[in-house]
Amino acid sequence: MSFALSRSVFNGFRSHFFHLGTSKSSDQCINKWYQHCASHFIFKQQRSFSTSFDFKPSPETQEMVDLARNFTRDNIIPVASKYDQSGDFPVEIINKTHSLGLMNFFIPTEYGGVGVDYVDSLLIQEQLGYGCTAISMAMALNGLAGISLVNYGSAAQKDKYLTHLANKPSFTAFCVTEPGAGSDVAGLKTRADRTSTNEWILNGEKAWISNGSTANVYCVLARSDHSPETKPAKAFTMFLVDKGTPGLKIGKKEENLGQRCADTRSISFENVKLTSESVLGKVGEGFKMTMGAFDYQRPILACNSVGLAQRALDEAVKYSLERKAFGQPISNYQAIQFKLANMAIGIESARLTYLKAGWAYQNNEQITLLASIAKTLAADVANQSAAEAVQVFGGAGFNSEYPVEKLMRDAKLFHIYGGTVEIQRMVIAREIIKQAKDKL
Ligand SMILES: Cc1cc2nc3c(=O)[nH]c(=O)nc-3n(C[C@H](O)[C@H](O)[C@H](O)COP(=O)(O)OP(=O)(O)OC[C@H]3O[C@@H](n4cnc5c(N)ncnc54)[C@H](O)[C@@H]3O)c2cc1C
Repeated sequence: MSFALSRSVFNGFRSHFFHLGTSKSSDQCINKWYQHCASHFIFKQQRSFSTSFDFKPSPETQEMVDLARNFTRDNIIPVASKYDQSGDFPVEIINKTHSLGLMNFFIPTEYGGVGVDYVDSLLIQEQLGYGCTAISMAMALNGLAGISLVNYGSAAQKDKYLTHLANKPSFTAFCVTEPGAGSDVAGLKTRADRTSTNEWILNGEKAWISNGSTANVYCVLARSDHSPETKPAKAFTMFLVDKGTPGLKIGKKEENLGQRCADTRSISFENVKLTSESVLGKVGEGFKMTMGAFDYQRPILACNSVGLAQRALDEAVKYSLERKAFGQPISNYQAIQFKLANMAIGIESARLTYLKAGWAYQNNEQITLLASIAKTLAADVANQSAAEAVQVFGGAGFNSEYPVEKLMRDAKLFHIYGGTVEIQRMVIAREIIKQAKDKL
């Protein structure tokens, strides 16, 4: 359903509510009112978002969602705790997920992609996140380099990297953060120097890089224009560095609070020699590319957060029905019921928000605002739901024999990576203030 105000809709509205005739003066008056309303609606449409949504999955999508749900139930949930404790990378699960076509949804079909559109891919990924976000996000993070390749890659780069990702369960790493600069992307120090023969030399260190040792290719943001006057939007370039390139060094696996089987490492570059074919997109386009990749990725982080929150709710409901205190199931107590209700409110809201952001992306709308809202809301909901689930479990919630303490640890990362929730709130505020100024 569209809310665009057409003249015929308006005329129906006018005759229904005002029972007006067609005298000249009343027509002039009504015309003015029409213009006011129409401009208001147009204003709302331009500055807000289209309002015709339909998130009902097609039968084919529903089949994929069901496949992902069943796969998660049978293959991820039973082993998630084992991987969490060992910290081993879940190669076997990823191989199976890939063979079922449940990863790398960004790959266009001409490069072997499964042809699932963005909104549907979010619904599918929520199911994987329900099982274990360390595992689901290891796969989902391919999207950062992946979408950059799709949008900016040359035919040869797409052919090489996207086809490989489609054919083999494999990884990319997106290397932006450094020991001295995370939120402040413009402050990063990795540098790329162009030689007289139009080659590049890369030097610097990246920190907290997901899929740091499992990736076949590293998508690296580096400063390529060293003039302090050059604005960030023009100063950075993205480079593709293949694993095994001399000078590329992979650091030790980080021991993290949550999402522990994910492979997070520092990556350093010491005089790494690159040809001009290693440049992704154009020289100077790297900052814009990075922001675009984050916009694409934030609804994906959100759907994984919602998956985690839904799991927390389901576990809490189940436990509250089984656990008795003072002679009755704790689900009978309003204090517990309100926790469950608040989780459900958050989950439904966060799910709709990520779907709206996904829908906007799929329809080529500007999604920075919606993507940041979706990411932030879902991260908060995941953290609140997991913490409340621990509370519903009481002492058992604090123990690794039960599933919810892992959820609480895993959830925390959604407050941090892909842009912290503080930075997201800055982005959200900046966007709404900009919109308000445009209106003046
Ligand atoms: C497990 C894991 C995996 C990751 N994977 C990747 C990856 O694959 N690729 C990659 O490039 N990065 C990755 N990151 C890095 C992640 O994106 C950054 O940690 C994150 O962006 C925050 O940067 P920082 O750690 O440098 O924190 P800082 O930027 O130092 O921020 C510290 C604190 O200050 C706050 N803060 C900073 N600036 C402001 C401000 N202006 N106003 C208010 N508050 C502010 C932040 O919100 C935060 O709370 C990963 C991180 C982790 C932990």
